[in-house]
Amino acid sequence: MEQYGLLIDYEYCTGCQSCEVACKEEHGYPVGKWGIKVLDEGPWEIEPGRMNWNKIPVPTDLCDLCAERAAKGREPSCVHHCLADVMKFGPVEKLVKELSGKPKQVLFVPQYKPYEARGEFRSIRKNDDSRRKVAAIEVESYGQVEFATHRDDSDVRRVDELDSDAE
Ligand code: SF4
Ligand code: SF4
Repeated sequence: MEQYGLLIDYEYCTGCQSCEVACKEEHGYPVGKWGIKVLDEGPWEIEPGRMNWNKIPVPTDLCDLCAERAAKGREPSCVHHCLADVMKFGPVEKLVKELSGKPKQVLFVPQYKPYEARGEFRSIRKNDDSRRKVAAIEVESYGQVEFATHRDDSDVRRVDELDSDAE
């Protein structure tokens, strides 16, 4: 079976983190879990007046290369939402050829580890409203409502209130 990967030209990566957000939205990963993480290399001074500061997006063990989207012929969510258009998805054999054509690129071939890497994500809501599912999972994983309000500010409630909902 052909192996697929992500080729990232980090010379032009702006560090905008859209790939992180797009991945979390696509998969519903809770706070603290990422399918891709933008890492900092720097900043430090190479020579007076010249700084080194690279932003390097690194897929994690939660990256499944957007298997569901890919099966429908769509590109991965991170690639689709990359504002600087520096990410490519494709067969490793093809990406390797592009890798040799330019420095400051990285090629990732993620290995998805569903059980080991994910642990258990359990929604604490009985009524499974998909729009609120991620927020509910986040409340459980942190035990603090403040972290669960990025989708719906009107839904700020304490964990014990959410617990009583689930009963
Ligand atoms: S390919 Fe899909 S799962 Fe992997 S980092 Fe990108 S958005 Fe996340
Ligand atoms: S979306 Fe693109 S430009 Fe933004 S951090 Fe990710 S790889 Fe870099």
